[in-house]
Amino acid sequence: MRSFVYRGLPAHVIFGSGSIARLADAIAEVGGSRALLLSTPQQSDMAREAVCGVHALAGHFDGAAMHTPVEVTERALEIVKAANADCLVAFGGGSTTGLGKAIALRTDLPQVVIPTTYAGSEMTPILGQTEHGVKTTLRNDKVLPELVLYDVDLTLGLPVALSGTSGINAIAHAVEGLYAQDTNPIMQMMAVEGIAALAKALPRIVDGPGDLDARGEALYGAWLCGIVLGAVGMALHHKLCHTLGGGFDLPHAETHTIILPHAVAYNAPAVPEAMVLLRGALGGGAPAQALYELGRAVGAPNSLKSIGMPEAGVDAAADQAVRNPYWNPRPIERAAIRALIARAWAGEPPEAAMAT
Ligand code: NAD
Repeated sequence: MRSFVYRGLPAHVIFGSGSIARLADAIAEVGGSRALLLSTPQQSDMAREAVCGVHALAGHFDGAAMHTPVEVTERALEIVKAANADCLVAFGGGSTTGLGKAIALRTDLPQVVIPTTYAGSEMTPILGQTEHGVKTTLRNDKVLPELVLYDVDLTLGLPVALSGTSGINAIAHAVEGLYAQDTNPIMQMMAVEGIAALAKALPRIVDGPGDLDARGEALYGAWLCGIVLGAVGMALHHKLCHTLGGGFDLPHAETHTIILPHAVAYNAPAVPEAMVLLRGALGGGAPAQALYELGRAVGAPNSLKSIGMPEAGVDAAADQAVRNPYWNPRPIERAAIRALIARAWAGEPPEAAMAT
């Protein structure tokens, strides 16, 4: 007998190839006429070229950075004021979306987001910010973007390595959504569809980064996985990645890719129904092992040591992971969590006995 609560978040999504042509309408749709364009320095030219010809732009701030540092947000707020901006256009991955959300939190300006990775932040009311080296996360409806413009063409140049890890980062949202404490049938359907789309598309992108059809499937999957992240609570996997990423300054998408098979192996015995759904979405086999193989297929790093975590950090991370209690389908046991982190650090496959 099912029992659940379902609360959908408002979202206006435009998805397709060439949909950037609708940016001027999108800005008007959110009530803007003087938009501030946001990007990272790396995507500064790409962002400017993509929006060229749109008259409702009042300026460009290209200082977005990983983990949304508060000092960057403060600099951007000065440009918002100087440009007299009445809306935001965030062009890029989760870092740029994060900056747009941080500005929206402080100004209530409406946001148009043009995602160019698979991170999924554009579909969530969640904001992670860093101040004095400490990353904190908040949930607030003010930061949920009003309009998201997905243009598959803009993802064609996403480097293959980042495509693979960013896609598995998206899969991780949906995996934890399958067994979330507050999951519901709609989220499970979206999670299965999103995982399946990404798991099929990512190896095709490695073979042909310019394959528009594969890129379209990956972006579609990322959208669904982002909705799941925004709608239900996460568990061990996201907690571990937050701890490791913040504690050792590890790259976001790579950390998710390395940890996911191990987190699934840990939780699998406690969530057999979710594992049946996950096995189906991944095309068969033990889900934890299948996720490990997917990481290899896209050429992603498979060990925490290879992305810069010192071995001495294994114990510290295990201590941190058990320090603040949080919901997880399987109780958090320090010895087993330490073993999980040690395997991930060394790049070993997930625990076979549990990887069903
Ligand atoms: P990112 O935004 O940091 O992008 C990584 C690099 O790739 C940047 O230099 C960026 O400019 C570049 N890039 C992005 N798209 C490109 C493209 N199409 N072509 C060429 N270069 C491109 O990485 P990310 O993985 O998208 O986002 C990570 C951040 O997002 C983290 O800080 C994470 O915490 C946050 N995040 C937040 C949420 C949320 O709901 N709040 C969800 C997921 C991720």
